[in-house]
Amino acid sequence: MTESQVIVFAVPVFFAMIGMELLVGIVRNNNTYRLYDAMSSISTGMLSQLVNLCVKTLGFAIYAMAYPYLAVSPLSADALWVWVAAIVLYDLAYYWNHRAGHRITLFWAAHAVHHQSEDYNLSTALRQTSTGWMFGWIFYLPLALLGFPPEVVGVAGLINLLYQYWVHTEQVGKLGWFDRVFCSPSNHRVHHAVNDAYLDKNYGGILILWDRLFGTFQEEDDNDPCRYGTRSHLHNWSPLVANLQVYRDRFVEMRATRGLGNKLALWWKGPEWHAQSKPESQFDIDFIKYEPEATGPQRAVATASFMLCLIAVTALLWYAEQLGTVVVLVATLALGLIMHVFTRWHAYSSTTSVATQDH
Ligand SMILES: [Zn+2]
Ligand SMILES: [Zn+2]
Repeated sequence: MTESQVIVFAVPVFFAMIGMELLVGIVRNNNTYRLYDAMSSISTGMLSQLVNLCVKTLGFAIYAMAYPYLAVSPLSADALWVWVAAIVLYDLAYYWNHRAGHRITLFWAAHAVHHQSEDYNLSTALRQTSTGWMFGWIFYLPLALLGFPPEVVGVAGLINLLYQYWVHTEQVGKLGWFDRVFCSPSNHRVHHAVNDAYLDKNYGGILILWDRLFGTFQEEDDNDPCRYGTRSHLHNWSPLVANLQVYRDRFVEMRATRGLGNKLALWWKGPEWHAQSKPESQFDIDFIKYEPEATGPQRAVATASFMLCLIAVTALLWYAEQLGTVVVLVATLALGLIMHVFTRWHAYSSTTSVATQDH
């Protein structure tokens, strides 16, 4: 079974849990969902899965290719300890991949997608990058050096990804000791928050112990409620625009920047670095969430288009092997375009007012 087919099996679980979270939120009068934001996040996840099909999970292919050359003494996939060690060490590699994803703009350009939602709920978890495949694999090559077989590392990666799903919720409070050992809803809320005290904290995927070890742990403070999103607001529901935002902004800034050193620094320094010392305006933590007005029919058409895309993407993930690369590539382009259009359906609305947020 391919990784994409495993994801297909997970889809009903994802949606059942989203339904439960929505219901709990409504009952508690603390609903964290907005229609367009959720559709945008899930569409971004669908696009990410389609792109993975097209690049045939490049990172895994590179690992498998490098493995025979790098593995000094290959480990056996039959030993239980090898699996346990792989899950723990993959998580350590993920910590550094994730930390670089926030502190080096070239990597942030790919990872920012996961953070652009101004809501925090299970649909945010599905908000995955479509360009992470370019460089992410670099961080996992040390596992090949240590001798971990590709199939073991592939499964460890999938476990790491699927584990992180449930922590994207505001409906689960603090969990005591669990918050200090494992990545949890409370400490991952901090990771997604743009509050001064919370920026660049809590990178751990399964274990938050890495953050405690490397000095990036921050506990959630009830007196400093989390505000979500990125500091350069996306203000767009399109998964295509979401994926291109940081690349586009940096290329524009590169053209306006003098000196090769400065141009390159725009990519290898942190996202807050600019060659011209911009007079940074104070970040407004009380920003109003992006919510352009959409009429009832617009919302209905967008929702119907979203559902059709979901069915098409699920079928593609399941039948990708039989369909062949060309069909998958054409379908990815077509579906990417459809998702771009339906998430912008509200643009035809006559007003552009923003709704005040309720939490
Ligand atoms: Zn992150
Ligand atoms: Zn997250």
